[in-house]
Amino acid sequence: MKNLNIVPFVSVDNMMKLVLATGVERFLTGLADYIEEDFRRWELFDKTPRVASHSKEGVIELMPTSDGEVYGFKYVNGHPKNMKEGLQTVTAFGLLADVGNGYPVLLSEMTILTALRTAATSAMVARHLAPKGARTMAMIGNGAQSEFQALAMKAVCGVDRLRLYDIDPVATEKAMRNLAGFGFDMSFCRSSEEAIEGAQIITTCTADKQYATILTDNMVGAGVHINAIGGDCPGKTELHRDILLRSDIFVEFPPQTRIEGEIQQLDADHPVTEMWRVINGAAPGRRDARQITLFDGVGFAVEDFSALRFLRDRLRGTRFYDDLDMIADPDEPRDLFGMLLRAAS
Ligand code: NAD
Repeated sequence: MKNLNIVPFVSVDNMMKLVLATGVERFLTGLADYIEEDFRRWELFDKTPRVASHSKEGVIELMPTSDGEVYGFKYVNGHPKNMKEGLQTVTAFGLLADVGNGYPVLLSEMTILTALRTAATSAMVARHLAPKGARTMAMIGNGAQSEFQALAMKAVCGVDRLRLYDIDPVATEKAMRNLAGFGFDMSFCRSSEEAIEGAQIITTCTADKQYATILTDNMVGAGVHINAIGGDCPGKTELHRDILLRSDIFVEFPPQTRIEGEIQQLDADHPVTEMWRVINGAAPGRRDARQITLFDGVGFAVEDFSALRFLRDRLRGTRFYDDLDMIADPDEPRDLFGMLLRAAS
């Protein structure tokens, strides 16, 4: 029998090796397909808004779900002030377990995996909602998530022109430097207005713990797809309310998005469409060329589950993991104390 007390652990180093060995764009495309597959079987999953512990500086959250056979959860934080202290705004790790016996089957770093899954989700959604043939994306907020967002939109949707803006030009210079070898035509922009000129997709991915207004209503023309992912906590939004009123809004899991997303600015019964219904053909996505579609993405547990499931499958046949002695599992199940005593000799 397999040694169930040994759990494969994917460190940051091994995650980077696996992603590079796979190729970032191939990894993102594969991940987007796994996420879409899980959105198709959405009704199977245990779903609950994430469990959030808010503080003045940020939030720490647990994100659990299960498809009845496998259980997963992610620990994640969001601390916008961290970046100025030389720390990540978002860090994460997560776990998969066998529902049959409750034993963990995978433990992984998820700071990098979260950036990948957030980008893959954005691109998977844009594949359904963005205007046909969209090639130009405005990328507003050029922090840790931004290059992942750009590459997923390229790999999954064919975006090859980027218009980048950040209040801190150093962030934009960093993103342009990192993306230089990936075949984008890139423009350095000095304002959000400039960034969205001619863009069919607008991604907002800024971090600020307030009701920010990255875009105002007069800036947004007909027919665009907005991928709003930076607003993901109570009191933390990016778009002016009037943009929401002009848009068809698509969400992951309404009970969570109503608390955390852009739609916290709207009445609790404002109509939104669940993305899994669009993917299953039960609800329309983009209907016409002038419609503004808005993905109010906050990040949902099923996407992390898909990411861990994808990771588990990609790991097969590789050595990009360590064996972690994580579960105390004596040969005689009732002799846990005996195992402790035997360790002394
Ligand atoms: P980060 O701190 O690395 O980068 C944020 C960037 O936004 C910084 O470069 C900052 O200068 C810029 N910025 C702040 N205010 C701005 C403004 N008004 N205009 C333009 N740029 C501005 O953060 P990150 O890791 O890239 O995350 C970005 C946001 O995305 C965070 O709020 C995070 O919580 C959120 N996030 C969402 C999901 C999701 O699933 N929806 C997943 C991960 C992160």
